[in-house]
Amino acid sequence: MSVANGVGYPRRNGRNRMKLASSFLFFTALLASASASATRDVAHYSVISIDCRERENGTLLHAFRSFHFDGLPRYLVVNVETFETRLIDPSFLNCKDPSAAAEVATSPYGEASRAEVRPPFPMHNDGIRHASGPVQGTFLTADLCPASKERFEYRLFDELEKIAMKSGRPVSIALSVSGKWIRQHDLDFETIRRLRDMRKLDVTWVNHSDSHPYRKGQKYGQNFLLEPGVVPEREIEGAEQELLRRGEVPSVFFRFPGLVSNKKWIEELGRHSLLPIGADAWIALGQKPVSGSVILIHANGNEPEGVRKFLKQMPEIETLGPFLPLSSLF
Ligand SMILES: [Zn+2]
Repeated sequence: MSVANGVGYPRRNGRNRMKLASSFLFFTALLASASASATRDVAHYSVISIDCRERENGTLLHAFRSFHFDGLPRYLVVNVETFETRLIDPSFLNCKDPSAAAEVATSPYGEASRAEVRPPFPMHNDGIRHASGPVQGTFLTADLCPASKERFEYRLFDELEKIAMKSGRPVSIALSVSGKWIRQHDLDFETIRRLRDMRKLDVTWVNHSDSHPYRKGQKYGQNFLLEPGVVPEREIEGAEQELLRRGEVPSVFFRFPGLVSNKKWIEELGRHSLLPIGADAWIALGQKPVSGSVILIHANGNEPEGVRKFLKQMPEIETLGPFLPLSSLF
């Protein structure tokens, strides 16, 4: 989801490499880069947790962030039935209706939120790993951790574009994006937005932390977000603000770097009104998707083997049904 359109479809590398020496393409790339870097003003960012009704039509919304967007007051809200998020002027909301909180608590979003803060809090792969009911299809999630090499997975996006052309519908994909990746990959970020704007992709932006800490060789209990000194507010809210500054709307979903978490972090997500997304089909680890699976691959080039296997398995995965939006998990 976006509050601003992107321009251009520049490529820096990959199978269909474009030659930036061409003056036209170089200009397009410059434009795209400028667009991706161009920032909306986000100020006075704060965490809230308020249940409201939209004055116009009574829609139940949970407001979870408050800030000024280009100088205007805005809430980031989630529709508790559909899990769709958007920005709204707080004056369009009635947040004083006492029945709203009770209705939100029994809504799909309210129930999912409660379910996620229950023990036993495993350190590996806590969160939603599979659809809660029977569905026809799978959930494609691709992580954009900070990239160790410049190997954005164009082959993956080319394949998804082909599927969209074949079906005539945008392909649902949840992109777990870190703030650091966004800051360092203007052109790749723009490529994704362009595919979304061309209705080839239906993108859900999943928060993958801001700095995505990782120390090679460090044991899990002190690695990723569990590394001593990591500040949860900075990690959660930093990535959200990177998206908002580029006119993109964060979802209510969070993916833990390395799928590593603990009770404290699950409670932090709860306090931030977010839902953790795990995976039961991490393709690079040899886990095979079935109907309702949350598939995990990396789109940043950090795990090329996963994308290779995913593309090879695609005919089989397609027999399970289409890729579904994360809202269908519930
Ligand atoms: Zn990651």
